[in-house]
Amino acid sequence: MEKFQESMYKLIVETSTKLPKDVRRAIAKAKMRENAGTRAAMSLATIVQNIQMADENVSPICQDTGLPTFKIKVPVGVNQMEMKEAIRRAIAQATKDGKLRPNSVDSLTGENSGDNLGIGLPVIKFEQWEKDYIDVRLILKGGGCENKNIQYSLPCELEGLGRAGRDLDGIRKCILHAVYQAQGQGCSAGFIGVGIGGDRSSGYDLAKEQLFRSVDDVNPNEDLRKLEEYIMEAANKLGIGTMGFGGETTLLGCKIGVMHRIPASFFVSVAYNCWAFRRLGVITRTGDIQEWLYQEGDDVDFQQEKTEVVGEGREVVLEAPITEEQIRSLKVGDVVRINGMIYTGRDAIHKYLMDHDAPVDLNGQIIYHCGPVMLKDENGKWHVKAAGPTTSIREEPYQGEIMKKFGIRAVIGKGGMGAKTLAALKEHGGVYLNAIGGAAQYYADCIQSVEGVDFLEFGIPEAMWHLRVKDFTAVVTMDSHGNSLHEDVEKSSLEKLAQFKERVF
Ligand code: SF4
Repeated sequence: MEKFQESMYKLIVETSTKLPKDVRRAIAKAKMRENAGTRAAMSLATIVQNIQMADENVSPICQDTGLPTFKIKVPVGVNQMEMKEAIRRAIAQATKDGKLRPNSVDSLTGENSGDNLGIGLPVIKFEQWEKDYIDVRLILKGGGCENKNIQYSLPCELEGLGRAGRDLDGIRKCILHAVYQAQGQGCSAGFIGVGIGGDRSSGYDLAKEQLFRSVDDVNPNEDLRKLEEYIMEAANKLGIGTMGFGGETTLLGCKIGVMHRIPASFFVSVAYNCWAFRRLGVITRTGDIQEWLYQEGDDVDFQQEKTEVVGEGREVVLEAPITEEQIRSLKVGDVVRINGMIYTGRDAIHKYLMDHDAPVDLNGQIIYHCGPVMLKDENGKWHVKAAGPTTSIREEPYQGEIMKKFGIRAVIGKGGMGAKTLAALKEHGGVYLNAIGGAAQYYADCIQSVEGVDFLEFGIPEAMWHLRVKDFTAVVTMDSHGNSLHEDVEKSSLEKLAQFKERVF
């Protein structure tokens, strides 16, 4: 079991830090399709640079190392209880070593267990088979994309597409709608797994099961093969693009599975996974790793790729404290390079600040929606191991009020915010800056020092980290003049979605 635990540790570290070959090829293809100098090209250049840095540093590709799910096939007679314990120990060790962010939170008290263990976590699913070896597969799926999963109960009415009936064409409409509703919030371009049939829980299980298929495989069911191909082509005409900035690639992969259902129910379940599609697997007989899975085909050497991160907008350097005048001069599309201090803040802090004072003067300052991976050295000094943006829309109920209350001028996050925040930006003089979701190594590299921390009692991801940054790059996607790139892309993609209303299958 000791050897098996070591192998599981290697699997966890490799999954968190290195994307599989099939995923790399899909990203490289997307990068080639985008025109140089566009926002999409800039985002993909950042993503590629980030993948490279994660490889080199053996550090998490994205700071949200997600919910670990293991799928294990075992021969008859294998002790599953001992395997579970070995996996739990490996998870705790990987967390201690900064390869996983402490992500396991008590759902009632909000307390972070600190080691990624908890009731039901990690998820470990066993299946017996006739073969004489053990097949372990792991997926680390982050919250940003998990929150964009969606389930349809047919028949239903869909925005832009009309009636979706209980047939292949209705299924087609649901899948297209699933891609549309995710916009850039799940860190597009993404991969989707679709489950047709089952009940609400087995349908989602089937959808997630599809994410374990190789990006390049061919569906043996002819109808589903055609549907997968169709979805890839149609979804990439929606113009949502990387990070929802617009562009040629919205979807990197689509895998569809089917199971029986009861006559009364007809579910289509869609599991959305971001570009940071971290899933790997190993084969073992004696506990040692005998084979790594998902290794077939050519690898992409991103070192060889030209990864200059340049955008299409005007470039502006910002350093806090920022004046209202400076903010009002910014327009959607401007590329901002930030120097100086920024403060992290996500769900717990936003809720707290509604009714309490801030521990630091936030007047003219920048808030970063980020839950980093941090490690403390033996001298008590904190180091940033991964620090990309988290999904901002969760702070929509609080953001505008907090900006006005404390005089905050800029918020960095990903995926954009809603009408309430947009109105507050206009009234108060603020901007929303979209950083590249998942680019946790790229942004960690921009952080020169950790100058302090507050609210550590909320857990590492939820604490307020005081970070000094240099050349931290983001795009203005919501400005103080009432403009929102997110609103524009959503509107134009809905118009494009409507062209797929007619029956195809
Ligand atoms: S890339 Fe985006 S959606 Fe994926 S885990 Fe990271 S922050 Fe979440």
